[in-house]
Amino acid sequence: MASGSASWNPMEAMIRRTDPEYDAERTGYQLLAPHEPDLIVPATTAGDVRRAVARAAADGLPVTVQNTGHGLPVTTSGGLLITTGRMDAVTVDPAAGTARIEAGVRWQQVIEEAARHGLAPLSGSSPHVGAVSYTLGGGIGLMARRHGYAADQVRAIDVVTADARARHVTPDGDPDLFWALVGGRGNFGVVTALEIGLVPVERLYGGGLYFDAGLVGDTLRTWSDWTRALPDEMTSSVAIIPFPDLPQAPAPFRGRTVAHVRVSFTGESEEGEALLRPLRAIGPRLVDTVGELPYTASGAIHNDPKGPAGFFATHDLLRELPPAAVDPLLDVPGRVVEIRHLGGALSKPQGSPNSVGNRDAQYLVGVLSPGLAPGTETRTPRLAHEKVRRALETWSTGGRALNFLYGENATQEEVRKAYEPEDYRRLTALKSQWDPAHLFRLGHAVPPA
Ligand SMILES: Cc1cc2nc3c(=O)[nH]c(=O)nc-3n(C[C@H](O)[C@H](O)[C@H](O)COP(=O)(O)OP(=O)(O)OC[C@H]3O[C@@H](n4cnc5c(N)ncnc54)[C@H](O)[C@@H]3O)c2cc1C
Repeated sequence: MASGSASWNPMEAMIRRTDPEYDAERTGYQLLAPHEPDLIVPATTAGDVRRAVARAAADGLPVTVQNTGHGLPVTTSGGLLITTGRMDAVTVDPAAGTARIEAGVRWQQVIEEAARHGLAPLSGSSPHVGAVSYTLGGGIGLMARRHGYAADQVRAIDVVTADARARHVTPDGDPDLFWALVGGRGNFGVVTALEIGLVPVERLYGGGLYFDAGLVGDTLRTWSDWTRALPDEMTSSVAIIPFPDLPQAPAPFRGRTVAHVRVSFTGESEEGEALLRPLRAIGPRLVDTVGELPYTASGAIHNDPKGPAGFFATHDLLRELPPAAVDPLLDVPGRVVEIRHLGGALSKPQGSPNSVGNRDAQYLVGVLSPGLAPGTETRTPRLAHEKVRRALETWSTGGRALNFLYGENATQEEVRKAYEPEDYRRLTALKSQWDPAHLFRLGHAVPPA
């Protein structure tokens, strides 16, 4: 495929349903229900993106974007998919403490480039996730309670808007569009690159404590109590993981249901070790990896599966996590339950204004049904997830985090819950201005007012 040249015609270079590359190009991390676009543009430059958007706008084709597929929303049927994985340049400016990252970059690349200069990005649990979408959807990272949302660190955005113009958007130059893009993600254009702030972090005291099935209840109860009085330097989460009895599961956990506490402490190791005492006192660990580690190895803290994988996932944001809210989470057999501790710097907007909502939440509780083959009927997992959701209603803020809204759950109504009501109205008004034809309606859609 010739691309990037002035004469490149996206309609000729595109991949169609009948082309042999179609399946590989549309399939990413999430296997349950991949996008089914009519046409795919495998973009290699911002120019490719601009020409693809121009053509789609001219033909009235809705547009969506995919980098890694970790955050696949409601499956697209028809329309045009722009894949960005080949746009993967990272440039660090050590003097400014910033990085310019292209649309197809994954966190591990940014982590490694930044580390050469003693810096780190506000990356999340999995270094394989796409950095741009993660950041534009909020971005709850390993240092979230200390440094806030990744979104708060956006300095400038290169984007192709629905009128097929490439724009460089800054908080001063275009405050409304900047505010809408950071938090509103794919609703206002296809972002071709971001400039983000980095933090001066080279190492952490972090890792995972893995407890066997008999200690799962104690672990969740102790962890939830422990999170009530922690410094912001400590970001942590806990998951109940039913590991299958299969060779691909790590040997010590194979066939066991395990409680996995993940900690990431930016302070001194001695202080971190002291803070962890109540957790280590829960009992013997199957594995204990917590110690001093370079930020380049931070993916080991959660040790998220590299995928690809078919899964159904839902989440709730809670304002508190009393013992009565922990009990229902101990009775979700066969599913992964994850609780992330929020609060700290996440509650205090910093940096440039953006539309990320629900900053009052103190915990994010996710439930994930793993191991679903492509096309699996989701009624059974849905019922199990709804049971948990009902049990948590008393403590729920009713909000959602855009980054954790996956698949068929990423409906317009659910997306609305990711924003403060006033902000949602402002987003729909700006959508009318920037994308009145709702060209970008196939992602986590915010409609025009
Ligand atoms: C294993 C795993 C671990 C995760 N850990 C965390 C975590 O620690 N913290 C956190 O906050 N989130 C986390 N997430 C959620 C993740 O941040 C989101 O799913 C994010 O959207 C993934 O981005 P992606 O590019 O990898 O995925 P994709 O599926 O490729 O993109 C998701 C959506 O973003 C939009 N999009 C993508 N690229 C662009 C672009 N260039 N311009 C405009 N819109 C675009 C599209 O609508 C697309 O459908 C995790 C997800 C998984 C599966």
